Amino acid sequence: MNEELKYPVLFVGHGSPMNAIEDNEYSRGWKNSIINLPKPTAIVCISAHWETRGTFITGMDNPKTIHDFYGFPKQLYEIEYPAPGNKELAAEIVRDFNPFKVASDYNWGLDHGCWSILKHMFPLADIPVVQISLDNTKKPREHFDFARQLLPLREKGILIIASGNIVHNLRMVNFEMNTGYDWAVEANETMKSHILKYNHKPLIEFEKQGKAFELAIPTAEHYLPLLYTLALKDENEQITIFNDKTDYGSLSMASVKIG
Ligand code: ZN
Repeated sequence: MNEELKYPVLFVGHGSPMNAIEDNEYSRGWKNSIINLPKPTAIVCISAHWETRGTFITGMDNPKTIHDFYGFPKQLYEIEYPAPGNKELAAEIVRDFNPFKVASDYNWGLDHGCWSILKHMFPLADIPVVQISLDNTKKPREHFDFARQLLPLREKGILIIASGNIVHNLRMVNFEMNTGYDWAVEANETMKSHILKYNHKPLIEFEKQGKAFELAIPTAEHYLPLLYTLALKDENEQITIFNDKTDYGSLSMASVKIG
């Protein structure tokens, strides 16, 4: 890989687990986001679905496929994403992430925030994947500063994917709708405008941005992965938004590519 090339970094809106088995506008957008890129040497995934106290990284040789959802068709529970792990990479991150502490984990695996998208992007599951947890004791600014430590990995041809949804209010989901409520559209548009201008301060201080943001982010776990992607932007890098759509009333599938 070209020394000058930093591997692009992604934030992916993952939405419903059903996207894992559907060929739809979202799954096609995920596939297109990596088209024409060289094959990554490894994948580091930060998923909304792994919250812990303290930060962990999967250190096993063969992370299991976790079916962490309820009430979906049997077909979805039968999916395996048998990508290998990468213990050397996990050990390197544990060693180098000063002043932040990262501990090895041997119990988790790959949750659907990770495999439901990788299944479309890299169906052969032949690229090693490690997952990093979301430490729910960290403040948003600390997540951003922590994520910044991952920057050197991009120069090693490693693809970093953060997976969540910038607007995600499950209590208000309406499956009859194929657009967003006014507040969801408003939050989505405001966030996108900040993202494209790399105006990251209000995005880090999302708790102070008023009613639309409060409704869009009732809990932080689906939103915080966005900060991981933004933190990894280097100077003069391009930001692209794809899968730009609000859906089911209270969900945004908007995804971000940097580089
Ligand atoms: Zn989710």
